[in-house]
Amino acid sequence: MSLNIHYKEDFKDRHIAPDLADTDAMLSTLGLGSVDELIDQTVPAKIRLKKPLNLPAAKSEKDYLSSLKQAASLNKVFKSYIGQGYYDTITPGVILRNVMENPGWYTQYTPYQAEVAQGRLQALLNFQTMVIDLTGMEIANASLLDEGTAAAEAMFMQFSLRKNQDARKFFVSELIFPQTMDILKTRANPFGIELVTGDHRTFTPTADYFGAIVQYPAGNGEVFDYTAFATQAHDAQVKLTVIADLLSLTLLTPPGEWGADIVVGTTQRFGVSIGFGGPHAAFFATKEEYKRSIPGRIIGVTIDSANNYALRMALQTREQHIRRDKATSNICTAQALLAIMAGFYAVYHGPKGLKLIAERTHGLAVALSDSLTQIGYSQLNKVYFDTIQVELGDLKDSIHKECIDNEINLYYKGTVAYISLDETTSLEDIKLLNKIFSKVKGIAADSVELASEEHIETVIPAALQRQSAYLTHPVFNSHHSEHEMLRYIKSLEAKDLSLCHSMIALGSCTMKLNATTEMIPVTWAEFSKIHPFAPADQVAGYYSVFNELDRWLSEITGFAAMSLQPNSGAQGEYAGLMVIRAYHQDRGDFQRNIALIPSSAHGTNPASAAMAGMKIVIVKCDAQGNIDVEDLKAKAEQHKDNLSCFMVTYPSTHGVFEESIVEICEVIHANGGQVYMDGANMNAQVGLTSPANIGADVCHLNLHKTFCIPHGGGGPGMGPIGVAAHLVKYLPGHAVVDINKGKSIPAVSSAPWGSASILIISHAYIAMMGGEGLKEATRYAILNANYIKARLEQHYPVLYSGSNGRCGHEMILDCREFKNYGIEVVDIAKRLMDYGFHAPTVSFPVAGTLMVEPTESEPKHELDRFCDALIAIRSEISAIEQGQLDRIDNPLKNAPHTAAVVTGDEWSHGYSRQVAAFPLPYVAAHKFWPSVGRVNDSFGDRSLVCACPPIESYMEEDAAI
Ligand SMILES: *Cc1c(COP(=O)(O)O)cnc(C)c1O
Repeated sequence: MSLNIHYKEDFKDRHIAPDLADTDAMLSTLGLGSVDELIDQTVPAKIRLKKPLNLPAAKSEKDYLSSLKQAASLNKVFKSYIGQGYYDTITPGVILRNVMENPGWYTQYTPYQAEVAQGRLQALLNFQTMVIDLTGMEIANASLLDEGTAAAEAMFMQFSLRKNQDARKFFVSELIFPQTMDILKTRANPFGIELVTGDHRTFTPTADYFGAIVQYPAGNGEVFDYTAFATQAHDAQVKLTVIADLLSLTLLTPPGEWGADIVVGTTQRFGVSIGFGGPHAAFFATKEEYKRSIPGRIIGVTIDSANNYALRMALQTREQHIRRDKATSNICTAQALLAIMAGFYAVYHGPKGLKLIAERTHGLAVALSDSLTQIGYSQLNKVYFDTIQVELGDLKDSIHKECIDNEINLYYKGTVAYISLDETTSLEDIKLLNKIFSKVKGIAADSVELASEEHIETVIPAALQRQSAYLTHPVFNSHHSEHEMLRYIKSLEAKDLSLCHSMIALGSCTMKLNATTEMIPVTWAEFSKIHPFAPADQVAGYYSVFNELDRWLSEITGFAAMSLQPNSGAQGEYAGLMVIRAYHQDRGDFQRNIALIPSSAHGTNPASAAMAGMKIVIVKCDAQGNIDVEDLKAKAEQHKDNLSCFMVTYPSTHGVFEESIVEICEVIHANGGQVYMDGANMNAQVGLTSPANIGADVCHLNLHKTFCIPHGGGGPGMGPIGVAAHLVKYLPGHAVVDINKGKSIPAVSSAPWGSASILIISHAYIAMMGGEGLKEATRYAILNANYIKARLEQHYPVLYSGSNGRCGHEMILDCREFKNYGIEVVDIAKRLMDYGFHAPTVSFPVAGTLMVEPTESEPKHELDRFCDALIAIRSEISAIEQGQLDRIDNPLKNAPHTAAVVTGDEWSHGYSRQVAAFPLPYVAAHKFWPSVGRVNDSFGDRSLVCACPPIESYMEEDAAI
């Protein structure tokens, strides 16, 4: 026997699930001889790439991790006192391993299918309760993308709610963080909102202002008493947003008690690593009366079909996909996983633990201030929580050098150093700082006495000391031992269906493999512990990852350059449209503000266009679901003087490669417009065609779809944009870190590279797949979809196909005819849970349909289980049609069936328990039990409860805490 010593494992064969036997079997079902033949029938020849992708050869998993380790070693992990919205924190091990590093939590989808998502809905409800309690507000959402965009959302909500339509001024305290200021500028500009920056102590709000924003503690660390300012603002009908630090609110009087209308901020320091900028969850809290204007998702309490406690996303009609061009926010993917972690951090520490952490942090700041003052420095803050300002004068350079020598970063502004302390700061750290500051003054460090360690008095005046209780709910007071915490986390995880259980064939959302090797580096200290404003010479490892990723994504899209800043697909849309806007304005075309958008577009498209100040003109689709080219031409010509852009999803949201795309792009360009391509369906393009190749000028990529960042139960995500050469100079800049491209628009995210740490996941995916592997993935995504189509089309009408009867990477199953027997598409979605599956995308882009996207990561076996389930459900529908099953009491209408219902003493249905819970033989082998019956949406919306309800209200429902 001869031995092959050159054998190398190929990551591509782990990522792409079908093997040769699967491939042959699927091709024969399709009546095809090869995958090439299928691709030729699917992707129009004229848009196919002529050359293979120019990417480095694929690396094995082992080789990738060792090469990345080398890059990581170029990042220097210094002790950071930079602050500015980013603080070191300790992720409790039980949360790190069992949530952040656990696919049972990170591969979940947004909880639209509430019955199989009660675990994360509860975790997000805990998050909302934590935010409500700490801020002293009445209602909170379940996360926004970062502190800066949360502040911008707050500004815009105030603007939308203004009574005086002429009020266009917004007061901005000069002491908010610079990156937040930058994002406010971006967001204010298209609406003619005038930002007036100043000192709140000398500013008097008047009727031409619609709102104001201040920070608490302020950006320089000083804690102001804003009570009088809030009163003045309210007297002038001006609403007040407060950007607050949650940890400080355990000690400070919360904004809700002194007049805030909206409170926003980040929850990063609640156990979520800095990660060079993200991802972290921002929060948004306000008053009950504004509940219908809150951006993002709100989790609410309701009941299920058996009247038991259940949770679901509340008030869903407010979401951008319904509001479209009337939307005031485009937030879709948020930061669910990180919100869940922050909520768990509060559960783990409880009110007492959080207060102790805050007291220690504050106490050490006081001790440091005292000793530095003793040494002879002047400390400028009077009232502070964790941040002091030290005047360095002409010692600045020496202090700076001495700190660097000791691997310490401070934040310098002129001759002042800001020093922000955090959960990880110890007495030893303070002593080291004292030593450094003494040495520079020529004083022996041991001659400096730390204020007595036994008695350190707060500098917070009584009027600003928090008196009210918080986190009193049992959930925050029960799980403090590690065993209890572990079991609590696991009990919630067990309620949720994730990719650990079965395929989640969500059309447009691309739920593919999130490989473990891609995830491993995210929590390496060299990546997770880096501050986004750390000096450039400490982050060479990150830069090398960004540079490569930028180059690779540019090659894949065919564009000249990328911006890695937008934190979601929708933020990418917004960034791309603002870039287009800047381009037109730079050419003197200020009037170009019309966005043409097809009627089939995802709701974020018109919402983003509205945010970019554009007027939306809808383009029709024809009976085949394709863009009506005649209508497009007519509208482009009619608006040729004012045309800004056309937004197009490709392949279309119907999953078809429209042949007319090249002509469509030409029409837009001929009329002076730019083409924005929504890249959500990029999984059908990579290696076969590209946005630049079809004629687009800008596109975003949802890295959490095509490029393997897990969905995290509704975030994190990343939505970088690629642009053609003429747009590069307008890509987003940043106020603190110089990434300016010449004519950059201001920032769209708080951090220069958005949620930098998860960019590594996409970097890993591309590096391990290589150009050929990526193209192979696309081909298999299309093969898998067409196989499902072939198996299901005798049972469900498939809407829209290409001219050869093939779909792209997804297809739409029409369920509208079943209405004749009383069956709605949601009944099918819920019944799929009894078979162990998460529903495909429901009612997008066509109401009453299911959109199925299997991805390349599912083997034929799994596709077959899914098809078998849908075929079995179809025969249940036929039984209803033929009268063998009742129209009201049937397995679809009663779905999903819980264990309690199936094992109950009573069973009065016209079908068996077996049919209810084990409808196909394979289900028994691996039964997933939905933890609640069908949730009642309208019950919960009638009386909105979006915090953990008092324990008495569900004493018997112990599971609820
Ligand atoms: C997912 C999606 C978006 C929005 O992306 P987010 O990352 O959720 O903001 C936009 N368009 C289409 C077609 C999508 O599928």
